[in-house]
Amino acid sequence: MQLPSGLVATPDVVVVGAGPTGLMLACELALAGSGVKLLDERTDMPNITRAFAVHARTLELLDARDMADELLTRGVPVREIAPPGGTTLDLGELPTRFGMVLIVPQSGTEKILQVRADDLGVDIVRGAEVVGLTQDGDGVSLDCAGGDTVRAGYVVGSDGAHSTVRGQLGIDFVGKQYQTHILLADLQLTEAPSETLTGVTNEKGVALLIPFGDGWFRAIVWDRLREQAPLSEPVTLGEIRDSFGRIVGHDYGMTEMRWSSRFLSERRQARHYRKGRAFLAGDAAHVHSPLGGQGMNTGIGDAMNLGWKLAAAVRGSAPSWLLDSYESERHPVGESVLRATDAFNQLVLSNSRARRLLRTALVGTATRLPRGRRLIGERLSGIGIAYPHQRGDDWMVGRRMPDIVCDGKRVYELLREGKFVLVTAAPVELDRPDIVHAVDAHPELPDAVLVRPDSYVAWASERLPDAAEVAAAVDRWTRVT
Ligand SMILES: Cc1cc2nc3c(=O)[nH]c(=O)nc-3n(C[C@H](O)[C@H](O)[C@H](O)COP(=O)(O)OP(=O)(O)OC[C@H]3O[C@@H](n4cnc5c(N)ncnc54)[C@H](O)[C@@H]3O)c2cc1C
Repeated sequence: MQLPSGLVATPDVVVVGAGPTGLMLACELALAGSGVKLLDERTDMPNITRAFAVHARTLELLDARDMADELLTRGVPVREIAPPGGTTLDLGELPTRFGMVLIVPQSGTEKILQVRADDLGVDIVRGAEVVGLTQDGDGVSLDCAGGDTVRAGYVVGSDGAHSTVRGQLGIDFVGKQYQTHILLADLQLTEAPSETLTGVTNEKGVALLIPFGDGWFRAIVWDRLREQAPLSEPVTLGEIRDSFGRIVGHDYGMTEMRWSSRFLSERRQARHYRKGRAFLAGDAAHVHSPLGGQGMNTGIGDAMNLGWKLAAAVRGSAPSWLLDSYESERHPVGESVLRATDAFNQLVLSNSRARRLLRTALVGTATRLPRGRRLIGERLSGIGIAYPHQRGDDWMVGRRMPDIVCDGKRVYELLREGKFVLVTAAPVELDRPDIVHAVDAHPELPDAVLVRPDSYVAWASERLPDAAEVAAAVDRWTRVT
C-alpha cells in the first residue's frame, strides 16, 4: 500500500491511532508548531462510540483550546448524579464553569477534534496500520502493513488497549480481566425514559440507558445473575430485554437493535509511558472498567500533558527533565483512576454481598459529609488532579489553575494560543513574546502565577517578584539545561 503523501513529508512526530487521545495530541503538537503525522488503520470514521461521559476537567481542558462551547451544544448536561448509597451528588458545587457531566457520544467529541486537527494542518493518514517500530538516537522508524516505512523524531502510541506500539516497545501491560460480561446494544425504545441518564445499580447488576440524541439509545448491562454466554455469541434483543427486566423491572419497550457487543473489561496499566523517543497515551497506557466513565477523559488529559512538552523537545527548548515528567505526572493519575474505577466496580459487582453492602454504606456516609462529597466530586470530575511539586514550591504549584478573569479575559481564554500564561498582581517586566502576560490582582491567589500550556501551575510567588525572578522561573520551564 502506498501511503498518501501528506502535508508533512518527514514529520517531527508520528502519532499512531486517531481516537480521541491521538486526535487531541496531534492538535496540541500542531498548535505548538510541530510537524505531525497521524496514522490510523481504520478507513471509516468516527470510531464506534463507547464513551458518553465527558467530565468537568476535560471540559476545562477543551475550553483552554476553545472547543468546550461547541461540545456543549452537542450534548446534554447532567448536574446531579446518584452514586450507590442513597444520596445524590450535586456537580454544581464543583469550583468550575462546568459543574456537570456532559452526556455526548464519543463520535461527537471525535468530530470536533477531527475538525480542529484538519484546521491546524495535521496530516492524517487513514488505512495505515503500524506493524513494526525501531528507534535509534536520532528518531524512530515505523513499518506499516503493505511495506511503507515512516520516519520521525518521536512516536506516540495512542493506538488503544491492544496497542501495537506498546507491544513493539516491549512494555508490560500489567493488570487483570474482570469476570462479569458487559453487554452493549444500540436500540430504539417505545417508552423512552424522561431522564438523560437512566441507571440502576442493585444486587442483580447494573443497567444503563443513554441517548445518542437521534432517537437511538445505548444500553449497557452488567448482569450478575445471568449465565454468561460465550463471548463470541451475538447479543440478542431478548437478552437485553430480559436483563433490563430483571435489574430495572422495566424494558422501556425495546424494539429494533442496530448493533451489539459482548465483552469483558480489564484493568491494566503500562509499566512505563516512555521508552526513549516513544511514548504511550490513552487506552494504550491504561484501561479500566467503563463504570465511572474515565477512559477517554484520562486519555485527553494525557494528550494535554504530553503535547506541549513534546513540541518543546522538537523546538529544542525543553529542559532535560521535561519529557520524563510526562510519565512521572501521568502514570500516578492513571494508577489513581484504575484504583477508583476498580473500587467502583467492586462496589457494584463484587460477588460478596457483605462486601457490596459495606462499601455501599461507606459511600453513602461519605456523600453525606461535605468533605466526602467534595472529594468524590473532585475525583470523578478530574478537578482534583494535581501533579507533584518540589519542596519549597508555592502551594499552588502542580495544581489546576482556577478560571479567574484577568484583564477582562478568563485564564482559559488566555491559554488558547497554547502558550505559558503569566498572571501578576501588578506590572512586572517580562521580555518574552512567547509568554502571554496578564496583570490583575486576585486576593485568593499568589501575586505571581505562571501557568503551563495545559493549565496547571508551573510556578507561583506569594509576593510580587522582580523581573529577574520572573525570568528565572520562566527559563526553568522553557530553556534547555
Ligand atoms: C462500554 C464503554 C463505555 C465507556 N464509557 C466511557 C465514558 O463514558 N467516558 C470515558 O471517558 N471513557 C469511556 N470509555 C472508555 C473510552 O471509550 C476509551 O478510553 C477511549 O476510546 C480511548 O481513546 P484512545 O484514543 O486512547 O483509544 P481508541 O479510542 O481505542 O483509539 C485507538 C485508535 O488506534 C487505531 N489503531 C489501533 N491499532 C493501530 C495500528 N496498529 N496502527 C494504526 N492505528 C491503529 C484504532 O483504529 C483507533 O482508531 C468507555 C469504554 C467502554 C468499553
